[in-house]
Amino acid sequence: MHYDYILAGAGCAGLSLAYRLNQHPELRQKKILVLDKNLKNQNDRTWCFWVQGSTPFDAIAHKTWDNIWFHHAAFSQKFNLAPYRYQMIRGLDFYEFVLNDLSQNPHITIQWGNIANLQSQAQVASLELDNQAITADWIFNSLPPTMPEKRPNFHYYLQHFKGWVVETPQAFFDDSTATFMDFRIPQQSGEARFFYVLPTSPTRALVEFTVFSENLLPEAQYDEELKKYFQTFLQLSDYQIVEQEFGIIPMYDTSFATRHSPRILNIGITGGRAKASTGYTFMNIQKQSDRIIASLLNNQHPFYTESAWHRFQLYDSMLLNVLKNHRKLAADVFRIMFERHPLPRIWRFLDEKSNFWEELQIMASMPPLPFLQALPQVLWR
Ligand SMILES: Cc1cc2nc3c(=O)[nH]c(=O)nc-3n(C[C@H](O)[C@H](O)[C@H](O)COP(=O)(O)OP(=O)(O)OC[C@H]3O[C@@H](n4cnc5c(N)ncnc54)[C@H](O)[C@@H]3O)c2cc1C
Repeated sequence: MHYDYILAGAGCAGLSLAYRLNQHPELRQKKILVLDKNLKNQNDRTWCFWVQGSTPFDAIAHKTWDNIWFHHAAFSQKFNLAPYRYQMIRGLDFYEFVLNDLSQNPHITIQWGNIANLQSQAQVASLELDNQAITADWIFNSLPPTMPEKRPNFHYYLQHFKGWVVETPQAFFDDSTATFMDFRIPQQSGEARFFYVLPTSPTRALVEFTVFSENLLPEAQYDEELKKYFQTFLQLSDYQIVEQEFGIIPMYDTSFATRHSPRILNIGITGGRAKASTGYTFMNIQKQSDRIIASLLNNQHPFYTESAWHRFQLYDSMLLNVLKNHRKLAADVFRIMFERHPLPRIWRFLDEKSNFWEELQIMASMPPLPFLQALPQVLWR
C-alpha cells in the first residue's frame, strides 16, 4: 500500500497534524494513513497551556481559567491573565474529537498496530506495521525518541510529575483560579519542585507534584509529597482520588533533530517540541503543525526552515546550567520573573515571541553572577 502521508503515532503531535490536514480543502484530498499501537481510548494525560486568541481545539477545552496564583515562600500573588487564559484539555477528549473528525474523511485510514523500521529513500519513505511494509511520500514520525548520546556541557534534565484528580464531598476549591506554580515546598539545590492545583469545579481538582531534575525519584515519593501538600498547604483531609497521571518530559538542550531522513519528519517530543526550560509542549506542537501545513502548500514538502540556533535556546541552556551547577534555585528565578515583570512579557518570553529589549529587561532583573558564570559554558561547548 502507498499513501501520500503517514502519521506514525497518533498522540498529540500525530493527531494535531492529522486534524490540520483534514481541515484544509486541498490537503484533505490526500491519501493519509494514521497509525498507533494504542487505541487512544484512555485519558492518559491532561494538557494545560496559556494562550491568547483562539486555538483549533477550543471546542474541547475542559476548563479555562482567567486567573492564576503564583506562590513562593517569599512572594505570593494572584494574577489576572487577560488577554491570555490558561486552558486545560483532557487527552481522551482530544483523541475522541480528532479521531471522530478524521473518520468522516474517506481519504483517511486509521489503523492500530506496532510500528517499526522507519526508513527513507530519495523518493519514498517506508515503515512496517506489524511486520507489513507500507510506503508513503512523507512520513511524520512521533514515536518516542531514543535517549541522545550525552555530550559534555549539554543538559539532560527531566520534568517528571505525578498528579491526582481528587473529589471532595463539599465545595473546597476556587475554580476561577488555577495555581500555576507553587514553590513553597522545600527545594533541593540543582532541582526545581513545585505543585500545580488545577480546579475544574468547586469539588474537583488535578493536583500535580512536579520536579525538574536529572533523575526520577523513588516511586513512593511522589505520593508522599502529594499527601504532604494536601496536609500542609491545602489543609484538606476529606478527599477521594478518582484519577492519577504520571509523566516524564525531556528537558534537553541538545534538540532532537526535526529531520529524521530525507522523507521522514520528526514531530512532537521526538521533533524537539518540548521547551527545555519549562517542558511545555502542547502549543509548540500546534505551531509545528502550522509550519508543516504552510511548507506542504508552499514548497510541496514538509521540511520548513528552522534556524539551527536561536537566542531562546541559549536562555534555556543558561537556566539549565544555573540549575545543574547549583548556582541558584529555579524557584528564585521564577519568583523574580513573576514578582518583577508583567505577565504578558513572561508569556511572550516563554513562548519565544518576546523582543530583545524585553529579554534584556528579564535578564537584568536576575542575579547577574549565576547567569554570567553559565554564559561561557553554554556558548563555548
Ligand atoms: C502525563 C503527561 C502530561 C503532560 N502535560 C502537559 C501539559 O500540561 N502541557 C504541555 O504543554 N505538555 C504536556 N505534556 C507534554 C506533551 O505535550 C505530551 O507528552 C504530548 O503528548 C507529546 O505529544 P507527542 O505526539 O510527541 O507524543 P505522544 O502524545 O506520546 O504520542 C506518541 C504516540 O506514539 C505511539 N507509539 C509509541 N510507540 C509506538 C509504536 N512502536 N508503534 C505504534 N505507535 C507507537 C503512542 O501510543 C502515542 O500515541 C505532558 C506529557 C505527559 C506524559
